[in-house]
Amino acid sequence: MKFRSTLRQSPEVSLREAVLRGSAPDAGLYMPVSFPRLDRKFHERLPSLTLPEIAQEIGSLFAGDEIPPHVLNSIVTDTFNFPVPLVRLGERLHILELFHGPTLAFKDFGARFMARLMGHFVAESGKQLTVIVATSGDTGSAVAHAFLGVPGIRVVILYPAGRVSSAQEKQLTTLGQNITALEVTGSFDDCQRLAKQSLIDPVLTEALTLTSANSINIARLIPQSFYYVAAVAQLGTWETPPVFSVPSGNFGNLTGGLLARRIGLGVTQFIAATNTNDVVPEFLRSGKLLPRASRPTISNAMDVGNPSNFARIVDLYDNDLQAIRRDIWGCSFSDEETLSVMHDLEQGYGYVLDPHTAVGVLGWLSYAKQNQTAAPGIVLATAHPAKFAETVARAIGVRPEMPERLATFLERPKKSISFPNRFAELQEFLLSSNS
Ligand SMILES: *Cc1c(COP(=O)(O)O)cnc(C)c1O
Repeated sequence: MKFRSTLRQSPEVSLREAVLRGSAPDAGLYMPVSFPRLDRKFHERLPSLTLPEIAQEIGSLFAGDEIPPHVLNSIVTDTFNFPVPLVRLGERLHILELFHGPTLAFKDFGARFMARLMGHFVAESGKQLTVIVATSGDTGSAVAHAFLGVPGIRVVILYPAGRVSSAQEKQLTTLGQNITALEVTGSFDDCQRLAKQSLIDPVLTEALTLTSANSINIARLIPQSFYYVAAVAQLGTWETPPVFSVPSGNFGNLTGGLLARRIGLGVTQFIAATNTNDVVPEFLRSGKLLPRASRPTISNAMDVGNPSNFARIVDLYDNDLQAIRRDIWGCSFSDEETLSVMHDLEQGYGYVLDPHTAVGVLGWLSYAKQNQTAAPGIVLATAHPAKFAETVARAIGVRPEMPERLATFLERPKKSISFPNRFAELQEFLLSSNS
């Protein structure tokens, strides 16, 4: 399988090069040049397949002969060593719990797969790799955990000072070893801009082997198609294929679903559910993407004003707005609505939502009200409620129980470097700290 840039100004590359580069030299994002199809036999076997088995089959379609089957097998069994339950709440409402990985958020899927894939490619090359990642909270912790102790790789995390929860901050600043956290005076968009600039900076790219671990890396995107397929495997028989409601920020998660659909998974529609950072729902209405500064909300991992995967969505549909609208339905919600649905679901079903998943539930409820459909709804639950304990307590009156693996982090001391929002300093830091 070859990969090409969304801007089409740079050469097609192998999976290895796409993964190690992160973004293309023309600053576009890598996409597969063509889409394989899951055959009919796959669909017949699907109900009996586990997530690692699904990952092996789809992964090999994208990896082609670049990764030997036994290597891919060890990558997928190691990556997906936790459950992905589909919980049925209402008659049609289902929740796909993507938060049973080590950092209790869905980003573990992409980050763990990418770390192991890069680990494999780096071991082949014998070079030291610097992974740079900007985070609004959950990416950084998922990436830090995923890469911790991987030989030949150091990870530099940029996160916005004062804009992530204390639990999120502990998860990304307490690991040490090959992981460094930079606490940037600025917003998530500033962090993202710094990260992007370093990846195309001639001085840095000459001196270092640099790559990105943001959702722009194709190695994060591919595994995010696997769990859509795993959800359908668990769904049982319905006359109409499911509607997936995806709480979205940078739109990597939703783009993973579009990939799954493109290779043959039956999906009625995707719901792009956002908080008040609603540039994509606004695009679906007006046909114009108007990026703007992000606003802080209680679903802070979705506070994105210029979603990086948007270019991939437009690319997948060849810029055809009508086609995008057929597949994606957009909606956005306030913090008040989010708190209120958290309260309602706890009351109605005894089910506790984190604020991001709550936006997804609002998306499904609003979709089901406005569209005549017999389709089951699957809301992607992107974080464990304990990661946002203060907000959950505001909504339902009690703090959610903290899982053991989160509690151990909160006790460790934070280790981060305060950092100005300036590229020159970052450049110097990356050069001087490279060993
Ligand atoms: C990152 C994140 C999102 C948004 O996912 P995107 O792929 O950026 O759209 C939603 N919820 C949580 C908990 C997240 O960490």
